[in-house]
Amino acid sequence: PTLQLLLSVKNIEVVYDDVILVLRGLSLDVPQGAIVALLGANGAGKSTTLKAISGLLKTEDGEVTRGEINFNGERIDGIDPYKIVRRGIFQVMEGRRIISDMTSLENLRLGAFTRNDNQIGADIEMVYNYFPRLKERTGLAGYLSGGEQQMLAIGRALMARPKMILMDEPSMGLSPLLVKEVFSIIKQINRDLGVTILLVEQNARAALSVASHGYIMEQGKVVLDGTADELRDNEDVKEFYLGGA
Ligand code: ATP
Repeated sequence: PTLQLLLSVKNIEVVYDDVILVLRGLSLDVPQGAIVALLGANGAGKSTTLKAISGLLKTEDGEVTRGEINFNGERIDGIDPYKIVRRGIFQVMEGRRIISDMTSLENLRLGAFTRNDNQIGADIEMVYNYFPRLKERTGLAGYLSGGEQQMLAIGRALMARPKMILMDEPSMGLSPLLVKEVFSIIKQINRDLGVTILLVEQNARAALSVASHGYIMEQGKVVLDGTADELRDNEDVKEFYLGGA
């Protein structure tokens, strides 16, 4: 069956501060409804790729200087971040970036900033269904554990009712048990709500356990891509990204 592409990044080049070339002709496709993993070593350019898509590159003096990014049939490179949120893309930042001196509930409401419908309360209940612990912790979000903050960041993304969520290292700082839990909920959210997910991870094993397809980046471009099964069976991937096992 032919898969409909929701996101298509074509041959982009990204430059920081007018001089530092970080992405050198990067292309990737994300089909509607899929979970796709973007893997690679530190500094390969994974976070930069997500920021190029979400428009957040601009806030760091970065720019897409070549190529194009298409989402839902429209070009989005160069557009302001809040407009990209309106089009249906929400990024869960690395390090989570929840607002620590607000409660969980207030953080969740923030995720709905582009909405003016009357389903916001119902969606908060939906988020609490996925992450019951968030409902129990009524204090300031800064006092939540690392895992709970990650859950809150994902919950806040859901509050935007996005077509697509970009996740930057959801496993970061979590115990192996929590990584399992968070990834299982990511999979569940994808299945239940049909939200398309592009997942940046250093933890290739966890990412490939939920993704259907993966891309491997080195020095600003894709060097390998395939189905999750193909990548797991690939000797180089085993050696360099799956710890030799
Ligand atoms: P990590 O997992 O460490 O975040 P990554 O694959 O996500 O790695 P990026 O964060 O995208 O990689 O960084 C890619 C390259 O771009 C690195 O060499 C980094 O030093 C550089 N870089 C990132 N952000 C900026 C910035 N704001 N200004 C200049 N250079 C930057």
